[in-house]
Amino acid sequence: MVKALSIGLCLLSVISVAFMQPREISVVEMTVAEGNPAIVATDITEVTEPKTKTMTVVATAYCACSKCCGEWADGITASGVKARANHTIAVDRNVIPLGTRILYNGIEYVAEDTGGAIKGNRIDIYFDSHSEALNWGRRTIEIEVIV
Ligand SMILES: [Zn+2]
Repeated sequence: MVKALSIGLCLLSVISVAFMQPREISVVEMTVAEGNPAIVATDITEVTEPKTKTMTVVATAYCACSKCCGEWADGITASGVKARANHTIAVDRNVIPLGTRILYNGIEYVAEDTGGAIKGNRIDIYFDSHSEALNWGRRTIEIEVIV
């Protein structure tokens, strides 16, 4: 009676092992199957370069001072955010819409501002100080517009 019970338990454990093994394998297979598309998607994101359009523009520079922005200068851009160096540029929104990202010299700028003199293929690059803006002067440059 006792022996029969132990054989029965033994059989039961063999059966449960037999059931366990395929389950464990299928869990591993599912993990791999679920992992692969994510890895592929990440690779695509990293490899894909942003689509850009080269544009030649005359670039001047400005800061938030009253000489650059008039008596009521407050450093707030046309899009409502505070101008930041190495980030903010002013554009003609009919040529480059506000919010457009632009690459120049390894820096990504955002078209956040406009200006009365900024018409056509013109941009105005924001600097923190008036001396830096003066130092930039007026240059014809090639920019990459992210499209
Ligand atoms: Zn200034």
